[in-house]
Amino acid sequence: MTKETFFHCLELLRAEYSKWDAPAKRFENAYRRTPYTILISTLLSFQTRDEMTLEAGKRLFALADTPEAMLRLSEEKIAETIYPVGFWRKKAASVRHVSRELLERHKGEVPSTLRELIELKGVGPKTAKIVLENAFGAEVAAVDTHVHRLVNLLGFVRSRSPEETDRILERELLPEERKGLNRLLVSFGQVICRPRHPDCDRCPLKECCPASQSRSS
Ligand code: SF4
Repeated sequence: MTKETFFHCLELLRAEYSKWDAPAKRFENAYRRTPYTILISTLLSFQTRDEMTLEAGKRLFALADTPEAMLRLSEEKIAETIYPVGFWRKKAASVRHVSRELLERHKGEVPSTLRELIELKGVGPKTAKIVLENAFGAEVAAVDTHVHRLVNLLGFVRSRSPEETDRILERELLPEERKGLNRLLVSFGQVICRPRHPDCDRCPLKECCPASQSRSS
């Protein structure tokens, strides 16, 4: 798929975006959105469904939504509050560790550069990019499993891993073309082009998708 066709697909998806009740969109009004809550929520989301991450975030941020307040909670309290997100014990330790790092090295603020973010324990490039985009409006494209899967399914990218996809998108897309890509494709992947049961009949891309199961319509 050419870049031009890919952008056309994105336009078709953007036209439908407001209709989708995707779990990824429910974070927007769930609790006070700050760089800190966005960072912590992103840490909680690893290997956890968005619905569960959302509820865990609501419970946790009702108790503490700043690094100072978080460090007043014990690791056990954080763990029991975020349960049952995946790796809840490990994530509770990570939440405290990152909160301490923010206070000690960044005056309690979340840094706004990729380099500084990935220096925080447990923060990789994907988490850093999600924070950069959602907290600071940066023109980046975080590549998670949905983004990796969908750009490959559409034939815009041929890659074997999200990391490889990330490098290709960095090379192929201008900064302004990356903005919003993660949110759009994650929502699309949750509601329409689901990994196991894609809803091709309802898909705005069914006429041009190489994997469409409803082309005969
Ligand atoms: S047509 Fe089907 S397989 Fe193709 S993008 Fe849409 S939902 Fe996914």
